[in-house]
Amino acid sequence: MKFNELNISQEILDAVGELGFSEMTEIQQQSIPLIMQGVDVVGRSNTGTGKTAAFGIPAVESITDNDRKSPAVIILCPTRELAVQACGELQKFAKYKKSVKTCAVYGGASMEKQIAELKRGANIIIGTPGRVLDHIRRRTLKLENIRMVILDEADEMLNMGFREDIESILSNVPEKRQTILFSATMPPDILAITEKYQREPVQVKIKSAQKTVELIDQFFFFVPMGRKTDALKLLLSAYSPESAMVFCNTKKMVDELTEELQKSGIHASGLHGDMKQAQRTQVMNSFKLHNTAVLIATDVAARGIDVSGIDVVFNYDLPQDNEYYIHRIGRTGRAGLKGTAYTLITSRRQQYDLKDIARYTKAEITELPLPDRNDVIKAKKNAVIQKITGMTAGHDAYDIIDTLAGEGIDSREIAARLISSGLQKEIDSLPEFEMPRPLKKGKRSGAKTVKIDLNIGRSRRIAPNFILGALVDATGMSGQDFGKIDIYESHTTVEVPESEYDYIIDSTNPMKINGHKVEVKLYKGSSSKEKAPEKHFTARGKSKSGRHNNAVRPSGFSQKRNTKHRRG
Ligand code: ADP
Ligand code: MG
Repeated sequence: MKFNELNISQEILDAVGELGFSEMTEIQQQSIPLIMQGVDVVGRSNTGTGKTAAFGIPAVESITDNDRKSPAVIILCPTRELAVQACGELQKFAKYKKSVKTCAVYGGASMEKQIAELKRGANIIIGTPGRVLDHIRRRTLKLENIRMVILDEADEMLNMGFREDIESILSNVPEKRQTILFSATMPPDILAITEKYQREPVQVKIKSAQKTVELIDQFFFFVPMGRKTDALKLLLSAYSPESAMVFCNTKKMVDELTEELQKSGIHASGLHGDMKQAQRTQVMNSFKLHNTAVLIATDVAARGIDVSGIDVVFNYDLPQDNEYYIHRIGRTGRAGLKGTAYTLITSRRQQYDLKDIARYTKAEITELPLPDRNDVIKAKKNAVIQKITGMTAGHDAYDIIDTLAGEGIDSREIAARLISSGLQKEIDSLPEFEMPRPLKKGKRSGAKTVKIDLNIGRSRRIAPNFILGALVDATGMSGQDFGKIDIYESHTTVEVPESEYDYIIDSTNPMKINGHKVEVKLYKGSSSKEKAPEKHFTARGKSKSGRHNNAVRPSGFSQKRNTKHRRG
């Protein structure tokens, strides 16, 4: 069924057409008409099946000129990335519908900016449950005219400990409303929400085909800063793919990397939007015919590339967007064939971004050590042995050997020279890594640490594991990454790896602990009046006083949520 068979406005049809959508996906076919009739829907389908449009199109369609003053639709998403992304999609659907004003609200970003946007008459609010509730409590998000609440990735939101926030939101919006819930799985928790907050919900369930990404083995490598090109050379040499795609985020990087690989004798070509069409066609043809082994491209240039038999995709740069990751790695593993995708990571921050991608794609991305140069050399030698074992020689070859023998070069020397001509050059150009692991060292290996300062202390009846829990929650780092926690009367210091300091400050401002808004700054030393801290605590579960491990967590801050972050 096509979108134009739906009873929706021309404005939306035009916008959807521009996005290149014509056939609806299954979940869209089944849920859009129901949602437009006002039915409460429970939709179940996997990632990548087009759920955003399934609820986004009816949401956008429902907005009228009467909604210029107040919010009419709330969409809840588990993470800020997903909220931003859903907001972007909805804006595209609403391109020609001027009455629609979307607003994304999520934690860790300026409250003031969001308030200003809400005041300007946003009518579709897309946000994470915590921040949406925050706006509701401050009355900066008015609920009187809410007609529709949509829970996207409901199971993921519950996994992340948003249950109370969601229930608070649902019990505050007017009862006369439509409640839509999408989830990949239907655990009892979700059914409970459905029962409590939906009216005669209709289930829509799509059994999805195996997604292509499931056929792709996904790995990542930690690479020291500034050595990604060397790492790529080593990997290309180690795996000798017949056909590989390498993705960079910029055209400039494509050009530089192409030149660099060509210099090392690798058959590589670049592809990006600044190249002339004829040149691009030539590059593509050569790649399709396997004359070019390595194609280096930007996301835009590679859109829609459908070459069979690509065995490996490398993410030289981490993609800027979850969807890009799927598009990129989807270049391999096509038509039911197995493929492999490797991503190069150079910082802790990138590791978290990749984790987010893994969560979004529901894929497992496993860390691998960079191959050892000596192992690669050994493998190369074996390959030569295999190759020669399987070869036969012609008469002309013996003629040449006889001639050379006459000049005093014996057969052993001839063979050695021939083997070296290909192999030695390749071996000599192999980069070497000392396998430094700066990123994982943390405090455990004595990496440099600094202290951060939180303006909350004993006077707020705070326990160390509240602090640790909040830090783990906000950063996605593991509890073991944080060092000693000292709680003073009105502030607390926490030892953190210096290399992560920026990231931690970035991701914790603002932060809430036990209902109090907390500011996090660099600790600049104690004032002389300050009393010694009462509580010492280290993060590895060994409280020095042994008293705090079982401290009660504040409500709304579940253990589950933290465990989840630590693992995933
Ligand atoms: P989900 O939320 O189910 O994971 P998304 O809504 O993010 O899936 O959609 C996945 C991708 O499919 C997006 O890139 C989206 O633009 C695209 N898409 C969605 N619906 C259609 C359609 N009917 N035709 C073509 N592409 C679509
Ligand atoms: Mg989605």
